[in-house]
Amino acid sequence: MDEDLRDLYQEVILDHGKNPRNFRHPEDATCEAHGNNPLCGDRLTVYLKLGKDKVIEDAAFEGRGCAISVASASMMTDIVKGKTVAEAEELFDRFHKMCTGEDEGTGADELEDELEKLKVMSGVRQFPMRVKCATLAWHTMNAAAHGEQKATTE
Ligand code: ZN
Repeated sequence: MDEDLRDLYQEVILDHGKNPRNFRHPEDATCEAHGNNPLCGDRLTVYLKLGKDKVIEDAAFEGRGCAISVASASMMTDIVKGKTVAEAEELFDRFHKMCTGEDEGTGADELEDELEKLKVMSGVRQFPMRVKCATLAWHTMNAAAHGEQKATTE
């Protein structure tokens, strides 16, 4: 494995990939969407429980995919819990920019702590194919929050 790839598969990613958080199907979920990344074969279902004022009270996922997609879904479900849909969208936007190298994820604001946690995924910017793996769960979460049932990276 070359050095770049070692950077990509950092310890945190491996840990989340092997022991994903929130890997379950909550029975009280209010919406769900199926995400598909045909380039890699990642398929995830994201479940959300939206409460009052569009607060994400619970977030979980099931499915299978590469370590990057599963790790990203694991981190995403942890991070969006307790946020509003609008905040989750803002995080998705910033995270996407981080993965494509448009945003370093720095800046003093209330989402900074969360963006800091997501930084471990930013190594994917060297591998454009992997950006889709890293963002699949976020696309799918976004679709679920807007009542759409399907999301694809294509
Ligand atoms: Zn993948």
